Parts: sequence; C-alpha cells; structure tokens
Amino acid sequence: MRLDELQALEQRYLMQTYRRAPVEFVRGEGALLWDADGKEYLDFLAGISVCSVGHCHPAVVEAVREQAGRLMHVSNLFYTEPMVRLAERLSESSLGGRVFLSNSGAEANECAIKVARKNAHLRGVEKPVIVSFENDFHGRTYGALSATPGLARNEALGPMLPGFRSVPRGDGGALRDAVGEDTAAVLIEPIQGESGVYPIDDDALLAARQACDEVGALLIFDEIQTGVGRTGSLWAYEQTPVRPDVITGAKALGGGFPIGACVATAEAGAVLEAGDHGSTFAGGAVASTAALTVLDLVDDAALLRGVRELGAVLREELLQIDGVVEVRGRGLMIGVGLAEGIDAAAVGADLLERGLIVNVPEPGTLRLLPPLTIDRAQIERAVGLVADSLLSYSAA
Ligand code: PLP
Repeated sequence: MRLDELQALEQRYLMQTYRRAPVEFVRGEGALLWDADGKEYLDFLAGISVCSVGHCHPAVVEAVREQAGRLMHVSNLFYTEPMVRLAERLSESSLGGRVFLSNSGAEANECAIKVARKNAHLRGVEKPVIVSFENDFHGRTYGALSATPGLARNEALGPMLPGFRSVPRGDGGALRDAVGEDTAAVLIEPIQGESGVYPIDDDALLAARQACDEVGALLIFDEIQTGVGRTGSLWAYEQTPVRPDVITGAKALGGGFPIGACVATAEAGAVLEAGDHGSTFAGGAVASTAALTVLDLVDDAALLRGVRELGAVLREELLQIDGVVEVRGRGLMIGVGLAEGIDAAAVGADLLERGLIVNVPEPGTLRLLPPLTIDRAQIERAVGLVADSLLSYSAA
C-alpha cells in the first residue's frame, strides 16, 4: 500500500489523536529502521524510549516466540512462572517490596495512585491529595491525567479527579509548602521527559523526601521514561540521594512488548489487598517473558557503564555544535536546547529527511533517546547529522 493510501485510511479509521510524520516503517534492527522505500534511518528516539535494547533484539524475539508458542494467557486467576519471576526480579533490583504488573505506564501510575490514596486513608486522611511538579507527565488515563498538570487543564476532557495539586518545576520550597497532613503522595518524574528532558535537582528531591516523611506520605518516582537503564543505572533514583517508596516503570521494560510495573517498598507494597486492583492482561506470560529478557540484557554493569560513557560523549559533542545552547539529561536521555530563533520542529523534520529520528517535545528542544545498545560510530553519525542540519538552517 502506498503512503498516501495509508494516510487516507488512517484519517478515515483512526481517531485523530496523533500528528504522524509521513513515513511508513517496515523493518527494524538494532538502532536502524527502514521505510517502505528501503531508506535507512538511524533511530535516536527508539519508540520514545521503548526499544532500548534496539529493534527486534534477537534474544527478545526468540523468548517471545518461544513463550507465545507455549502459553500466551491464562488470566490473573492462576499462576505462571514468568509473572512471578518478573515481580521478583523487579523487586530485588529496586525497592524490595511487592509489585503490581500492568500493561502500560499510565496504568502503572494508576496503581501507584491507588496505593497512595489507600495508604492515606489508613492514616485517617479523608480527602487525600497528590502533589506533582508543573510540566510532569504521568499518562493519559484519568488518574494519571489528573496528575499531569498541563494536560489536566484541558477542560474539554473534564472534570478531572479531585485531589491533585502542582507546584513549579523543581521548586523544593514550594513542594514542601504544598505537602501537609492531607498529602497522600508526592508523584514526580526524577527527570521530566515529555516536557523536554529537565532533571530535577537533588535538593528538590531531598525536600520531597523530607516533606513526605514528615507527614507519612509516599514518595513516588515515575520512572516510566527514566527507568530500565535509560540514565545509566537500572533506575534513575539510584543516582540521586533519595530512595522513593514506590517507582513506576513501563516503556523499555518489554523491549517493544507492552508492559508496566508499579514497584513498592515492603510497607507500601502491603497496602493493596484482593479486590482493590486488577487487570485482565497484566503480567501476561509473553509480556513478562519479554521483560525478563530485557532485564537480563540491561541490568548489566558493562551495558550501564556504556550508557553513562556514551551519553557523556554524545552530550559533549552536541554542545560543540553551532546553534546548540544547552544539553540536558543523564545517560542516554538527552534534551538539546537550540538557540533562540531556531525552529526545533523544522530541524526535527529536516533530520528525518536526512535519516535521523529524533523528537521535538517543546518548541526549542530536540529530544534524543537512542537505544542503549548504540555504538560510538552511530553516535558520531548522529552528531554529524545534527551539525549538518543546524548548519543548513543557519545558512538558509
Ligand atoms: N509517565 C512518563 C514519565 C511517561 O513518559 C509516559 C509516556 O510517555 C507515561 C507516564 C505514560 O506511559 P504510557 O504511554 O505507557 O501509558
């Protein structure tokens, strides 16, 4: 089918919730993608940080194929080994308590919100409040949406859930002031991803930890974008001075297969009981097998060191390019701030033409989320393409 035919069908049959770039991809391998005309692209977006072990990693493909051929689904009324082994693996590699497996990031946050609200009710709070930073992104379901200040203001989708409050991004003092006896949780991204890659300072994270401890609220880190190796440690909180009570993960966890997880400490993980939460597909055997295989690949000292080292090289080289004024982020989660007057959307479209996939989360920023398995030569190729694009932009 030709691209214009696909576009016409998409317009006719898919709700128009996305603005898609005019490319049809048909194959992927490692950090490379090919479109229907056979053109090759270097993928520095990795399905928005989903394909962190690269496209179609042979170990993930094989594990999924084998599990799918043996047993796909039995529901959560029974046991399967991949589900239990995955929960063990997630818990033992982080907070040590129980896990709720989900099918997406937003659903992982829904679970975290339930844990926080129920925990607050157990403390005697009647109307629990969850506090987040402005520009946080937590997902599109109503709980997660209500915790996403920018999107929660879309009155056309209202009313939002009650019990959500926000303070300016990274403002530890304002956060401390906003947390009180009615606070169920502080729910934040340790590095804001969707809004343009803005790391939250350690001081603000410490303020959040302290404020939560003072009132018995939970500190929840949304690690849906930062987790599973993206920043050079399995979870981003490991590189901060605080330990949250709950983390949520998804995206890279399944290597392209939909799965999410809400991981808690022993205390927070004991809050939900039978009947409090559930999901038909959650913890399915195939998705859990994919995630176990991804964790085998990513929870590896050499790979994580490579993410930190290559990330540092990439950030350093990007900063040398004319037109780049700021490079933010950690590991291979990178926001490139462009000089005033440069239209990042135009640069992003030009890069796509040149065969480099990035994304533009806000008007002056390019976001780079390459596979964690990227090599030095691919980094140099990407940097060269960004430099060429910005050079042609300034010449135009
Ligand atoms: N939280 C963060 C930090 C995210 O980046 C995203 C997705 O971009 C989500 C939550 C929502 O995840 P999902 O789209 O899988 O529901």
